[in-house]
Amino acid sequence: MLMSAPPNLPPPDQLLQRAEEILKELEKGPWPSHVAELRKTQYPLRVYGVGLAARKSPWGPGAVKVAYVNTGVLSRWARDWVPGGGVEVHFRVFHTPGKFWKTDFIRKITKISRELGVGLIEVVGQTGAFVLNLTPDKAEEMVDALRSIGTDVGGSGDAIRALNACVGPALCEFALFDTLKWYAEFHKDKRVNDNIATPNYPYKFKIKISGCPLDCARANRADIGFIGVWEGAPEVDQAKFRELVERGVVDPVKLAANCPSGAIRWDAEKKELVIDGSKCKKSMHCIRTAFPAIKPGKNRKVAVVIGGGVKGRYGPKLGWFIGYLRPDQVKEAIDLTFKVIAPWEAEAQPKYRLGDYILVTGLDKFIEKAGIKLEGMPESIAKTPDDVPYAVLPKEERDMYLKLVEELKGKVGV
Ligand code: SF4
Repeated sequence: MLMSAPPNLPPPDQLLQRAEEILKELEKGPWPSHVAELRKTQYPLRVYGVGLAARKSPWGPGAVKVAYVNTGVLSRWARDWVPGGGVEVHFRVFHTPGKFWKTDFIRKITKISRELGVGLIEVVGQTGAFVLNLTPDKAEEMVDALRSIGTDVGGSGDAIRALNACVGPALCEFALFDTLKWYAEFHKDKRVNDNIATPNYPYKFKIKISGCPLDCARANRADIGFIGVWEGAPEVDQAKFRELVERGVVDPVKLAANCPSGAIRWDAEKKELVIDGSKCKKSMHCIRTAFPAIKPGKNRKVAVVIGGGVKGRYGPKLGWFIGYLRPDQVKEAIDLTFKVIAPWEAEAQPKYRLGDYILVTGLDKFIEKAGIKLEGMPESIAKTPDDVPYAVLPKEERDMYLKLVEELKGKVGV
């Protein structure tokens, strides 16, 4: 795509000179410099520098075709005002569960990157994949090399995107189920892989798995998310808790006051913390403050949320809670994922995320069309005429927030 040059752009030689000055500046100082590191690779640093000098993105969308690879190839071409032009192409490559890499794998992947790419790997990002820059004429060779070491390219466009799971039980004391096993089982399923490799859907579809309600994998804003929870109240070891209070580590009155659902009471006489399980909304606040004296309850479940997402026709959304699975029900979770996909794939307009389609269809109707039945599904509107379908907050709380909104609207004159 062509784009007119930004106003007041200097002539090309001055622009390049200014770009180099900025890049040199970014290499100064005692801290690590991303420019110094990028100079060791064949990344088109000149284009990046020109963008900084022009104060405008130097990149426009490009298109590079790699035989038999339908998703996971992304390219950008320098805009026509960038002296000398340039191109940047990268693959999204499957991560390992929990993003753990063996040293052997790192050696292999850096060798591939040096020999067939530009010597640059980006292992951060929210896509669930890592990014491997490449040179377009060696793209097919790189795909073969990646497959030969047990990974693959995939997850972009209107397809299932590379999955994301938190590190879970491998590193984290809060994990309530085996997120890494779930990630691996999803990745082993042929239906999942086929739909990562082929863009068949109205829009992208993200699957994310978090071991507890702190939600490090951001499952609550995936098209389908699985989040570890427990039933009822967190467990309190009263002796350990009293010890924390006596040592001044925890203030029990403050702890109770900060519970977002008002489920906690400190009995000062008996020196006991009382938590009402029916009110607990699994915010993790008390557990994070007083761990290990307060721990998640023993009856573990996996909450299923659907329809979340940042981009989409009707803007950002958090997922709707639709019920629970058990930690050993990963096969059922995979089947459920495709039940959720079926009506959306058949009926949604292009560029409607699942959440957009649910908003248009109505959650009640969607659940019926998808034929979903789960333990703990919130009551539907048909059963409670006074209520909102699948509402998470009780009516009094919703009314309280609506009243607050009205008051705020009055104050700002909306
Ligand atoms: S989501 Fe929970 S279990 Fe997973 S890494 Fe974060 S804190 Fe740990």
